[in-house]
Amino acid sequence: MKLTILYDNEAFLEGLKAKWGFSCLIEEGGKKILFDTGANGPILLENMEKMRIDPAGIDIIFISHSHWDHIGGLSDLLHINRKAELYLPFHFNKESGLPVLYLDILKDCLEGNKVVVSKEGAKIADNVYTTGILTNNEQSLIIRTEKGLVVVVGCAHSGIDEILDSASKYGKLYALIGGFHGFMDFELLEEIELLCPTHCTQYKKGIISLYPDKCIPGGAGKVIEI
Ligand SMILES: [Zn+2]
Ligand SMILES: [Zn+2]
Repeated sequence: MKLTILYDNEAFLEGLKAKWGFSCLIEEGGKKILFDTGANGPILLENMEKMRIDPAGIDIIFISHSHWDHIGGLSDLLHINRKAELYLPFHFNKESGLPVLYLDILKDCLEGNKVVVSKEGAKIADNVYTTGILTNNEQSLIIRTEKGLVVVVGCAHSGIDEILDSASKYGKLYALIGGFHGFMDFELLEEIELLCPTHCTQYKKGIISLYPDKCIPGGAGKVIEI
């Protein structure tokens, strides 16, 4: 599995733009899965171009939750990519009676794209699963690797404890990557072997000082191969 951070609060590679938000590309089993889209379409597309990633080649777009810093690039991307399957959290669904704002934003650009509205945990592709919608309408992505499970989180508004609990149904945890938000229950990370706290992680320094050997930096341009 290869994970490339394309949009983050900081840049790992010189020449890539940094801005508040998160997006990464996951390549697994021949599938290209984009996890979230950052806050700004042009910045996302520019960073993709610099990383030589073709937006038209993405097979699946997975949205963790509906905050602006994760869906901002979605409509620009869908104007270029008419084939990607879109995995949206449950509250994007018109029938749910919850805010329909994003479906209205997307209706001009959703032509051929198949939309899957996530609710329960489910398989998305070979070795790739969603936790399903947890607390605060957020879903996280789980990738099964030979080393164990890689869990990718957007802002972790559901709480890292709930996310890890849900992911561990699929096997042994190996890595946790993304925005940990205000997470402070650091001992929960003890059994995880690789940590990449980035984006909105408020206590990044505390996590790094407690687990210096497990932590790797995030930032736009960072590539993680597991
Ligand atoms: Zn965020
Ligand atoms: Zn958020």
